[in-house]
Amino acid sequence: MMKIFNSLSKQIELIEPYKPGIIGMYACGPTVYDYPHIGHGRKYVNDDVLRRALTRIAGLKVNHVQNITDVGHLVSDGDEGEDKLEKGARKYGKTVWEVASEYTDYFFQEMDILNVLRPTISCKATDHIVEQVKMIEELVERDFAYVTKEAVYFDVTKAENYGQLFGQDLGEKMVGVREEVETDNSKKNPADFALWFMRVGKYEDHVMHWQSPWGDGFPGWHIECSAMSRKYLGDQFEIHTGGEDHISIHHPNEIAQSEAATGKTPFVKYWFHSAFLMVDGKKMSKSLGNVYKVADIIERGYDPMALRYYYLSTHYRKQMNFTWEGMEAAANAYKKLREQVEELMKIAKEMGSQEGEHVDTFIKAVEEDLNIANALAALWEGVRSDVIPEEKLGLVSLADEVLGLRLIRTSEIDIPKEVIDLKNKREDAKANKDYQMADKLRDLIYSAGFEVRDTADGQVLKPR
Ligand code: AMP
Ligand code: ZN
Repeated sequence: MMKIFNSLSKQIELIEPYKPGIIGMYACGPTVYDYPHIGHGRKYVNDDVLRRALTRIAGLKVNHVQNITDVGHLVSDGDEGEDKLEKGARKYGKTVWEVASEYTDYFFQEMDILNVLRPTISCKATDHIVEQVKMIEELVERDFAYVTKEAVYFDVTKAENYGQLFGQDLGEKMVGVREEVETDNSKKNPADFALWFMRVGKYEDHVMHWQSPWGDGFPGWHIECSAMSRKYLGDQFEIHTGGEDHISIHHPNEIAQSEAATGKTPFVKYWFHSAFLMVDGKKMSKSLGNVYKVADIIERGYDPMALRYYYLSTHYRKQMNFTWEGMEAAANAYKKLREQVEELMKIAKEMGSQEGEHVDTFIKAVEEDLNIANALAALWEGVRSDVIPEEKLGLVSLADEVLGLRLIRTSEIDIPKEVIDLKNKREDAKANKDYQMADKLRDLIYSAGFEVRDTADGQVLKPR
């Protein structure tokens, strides 16, 4: 029986799907305007472990929908400033569409390297403008939204329980928001948020734009998640994930829009929020030079699975403080565990069943709000215990299914599928004499921890 902490009720709750055997899980995806960093990695590894646990431990089929934010997310979550995609385009001297496509690919490559399963459905905001416009129309019709010269806004005073997720009443929230910069004087309440921006004023040159009943413009950031989750998971579904920064603005806005449009409550049963990752006790920032990518970790010689191990050693609801000393300690622990598994593989004749005392303790820990630290302790204990090697391997294979740490590496699975895919793509590029692409793919293979050599028999991969 899986339990997780629900940020809405602020309690640990038993997960009960609406329909037996199947569960919907919507994850707020990345804003694809720049490289993802190790903080993103933490959030998506936490989601991945939740999904794997729901599948393997709770026996559910998980419909995992994750969006790609490629328009409308402004520099401030409170509807202020430039669109992040335009910022990325300026920085890299590319079009917004090129930036979106490149950083979407990059995001998935990094997640593959971290052994994060790809979502069942990955959906882009720009592919779902029709759905977003339709939902905004419903909100205007139902009088939850109003139109000004600059935007269509959601009136937060009309939403029931607007502050439930962030645990404040609307009055307190209004005071907080009023202190922020305000631009549109026709906004009824400071906390009202934009559903659609008109291509006027500061956005008159906005590159991505579409026609709508209110004029040429582009969607606000929040509406995409309400429209796409509804399309793929229905009016009401079970789990919604995101980073803890979404508790105060993005997720209350999603709840307000969705419940207002469908008239159904609750929009989502369980809210799963990952706490942030800090570096040396500070927020990652360009000025501090502490924004690390997964590739930077690999560059320093670490196995990406050691980073995954490091992530899993902090509970998902606790802030994680990344330090190079911590990375080193996690890498050593992971290496020791892998060595034990290698030894086991030499002596075990076959894989034992996934049963026994240590397996039970492992499962209980995972079921209890993903207590992965305890699950890892059970794994270590099991591996070091005096049970037969076959049974130990059974425990390790269960741990691999749930934690995705690639502890068992036979010769075939030694090389991750995505690296093989990159190698195959490189073969195609070489066949097409696209040497620039072939070199780029070589770099990607390198950042995934492998070297590719061109031999008389074709390309050969080996771990770095
Ligand atoms: P973004 O690309 O900024 O839209 O973020 C994508 C997801 O990553 C969101 O759910 C964020 O909450 C999460 N996220 C961003 N930065 C961090 C961080 N430093 N630690 C953990 N999660 C993060
Ligand atoms: Zn979202």
